[in-house]
Amino acid sequence: MQSFQPPHRVLMGPGPSDVSPRVLAALARPTIGHLDPEFQALMEEIKGALQRLMNAPDHACIPLPAPGTAGMEAAIMNLLEPGDRAVIAVNGAFGGRMADMAGRAGATVVTVDHEWGKPVDPDRVAAALAEAPTKVLAFVHAETSTGVRSDAATLCALAKTHRALSIVDCVTSLGGIPVDVAAWGADVVYSGTQKCLSAPPGLSPIAISKAAQAAISGRKEKVRNWLLDFNLIMAYWGGEGGRTYHHTAPINALYGLHESLVALFEEGHQAAMVRHARTHEALAAGVEALGLTFLVEPKWRLPQLNTVIVPDGVDEAAVRTHVLKAWDLEIGAGLGPLKGKVWRIGLMGASATPWHVRLCLTALSEALAAQGVQTPVADAIAAADKVLAA
Ligand SMILES: *Cc1c(COP(=O)(O)O)cnc(C)c1O
Repeated sequence: MQSFQPPHRVLMGPGPSDVSPRVLAALARPTIGHLDPEFQALMEEIKGALQRLMNAPDHACIPLPAPGTAGMEAAIMNLLEPGDRAVIAVNGAFGGRMADMAGRAGATVVTVDHEWGKPVDPDRVAAALAEAPTKVLAFVHAETSTGVRSDAATLCALAKTHRALSIVDCVTSLGGIPVDVAAWGADVVYSGTQKCLSAPPGLSPIAISKAAQAAISGRKEKVRNWLLDFNLIMAYWGGEGGRTYHHTAPINALYGLHESLVALFEEGHQAAMVRHARTHEALAAGVEALGLTFLVEPKWRLPQLNTVIVPDGVDEAAVRTHVLKAWDLEIGAGLGPLKGKVWRIGLMGASATPWHVRLCLTALSEALAAQGVQTPVADAIAAADKVLAA
């Protein structure tokens, strides 16, 4: 065997995003014991930082030791027991995954299905909640498969009205657009590290409300997966001084998350969201100047995930191959019904910069030219620069 030397890539897909040198350096610091007092102090600081980041001062906030999907699985498996009714809004790939998990938990699953590219419709969700007593309403705040934002405040309020607990997928939203757990009154919110937080994948920050904690400790039967059982995990992450062994925390990965949170608060959480919005507007102006169009209407677009429609006659995969080979640039393909029909261009975390916008517009125009489709690249860069200078 030989040491693996990854190529240098520019990551503008649906995640992971570019990881900054300071976060990579933090990951390489010496490993210490997970019960070392110094490490426990780091754990406490991460808990506090996640509470601040999500505005969840009354929630238990911890990073689960696995990627974003683990947060999803933990939320579903802890809140749902066999026979419970769950209403799940599906407007893309990740809503569909939640419904699959809820079925595996033994719940009676009612999906509210939407066309891909549209936000969750609160009226249809309200109708589903009104049909029968419901334990959980689950939905995705930022659907990465389509680039759509849904109205989390309205949907969480609906859950409360119908005495259901809310589960909100904020994997792609956290750090890029406002995630305000307290204002929404959300019960369980989970995220990931490799989208707008720009740390490597492998951790899932999660926030659990008092009501959700009470529902979990009052379960009739044990949570079916041991690693993600909050009753057990909270004795490890929760205990002031009384921490007992549950699993070995991914120590160096937590150094990376910690450093990414330090960087985010140094820049300013609000400033980071403004940066995401501005780079998105610049990219959108450039993309439109190239003569391309977006899948999602402006009101519901995610700044951090831009879904661009592949023009007729253009080979979607060939464009991605071209930009990867010629520019070391990764952009994402469409999933499910959007396969072959869209590109998904991420502007997440450290990948949301003017440089990334210009690089992407240049590379995209060149890749289209390679297929005989001429686009005005200078106009596109000028359009993007105009937004950035404003
Ligand atoms: C990426 C993503 C996930 C899954 O996260 P992984 O880290 O890939 O497990 C879940 N939900 C949404 C909306 C995502 O974008």
